[in-house]
Amino acid sequence: MTTVHFTCSDCAQTIEVNGEMRETILEAGCPVCTTAASEGDFAAETDDE
Ligand SMILES: [Zn+2]
Repeated sequence: MTTVHFTCSDCAQTIEVNGEMRETILEAGCPVCTTAASEGDFAAETDDE
């Protein structure tokens, strides 16, 4: 199972996102401060447990 986290480059807020939320953040920016987000602000973590 893969979890994707978004980390805002401006306010440093980290949010766990699904595919739909990821698209929304890329379009609308950070949910907290509305700073524009890029692909590099997302990190995928694979959980083997
Ligand atoms: Zn932010």
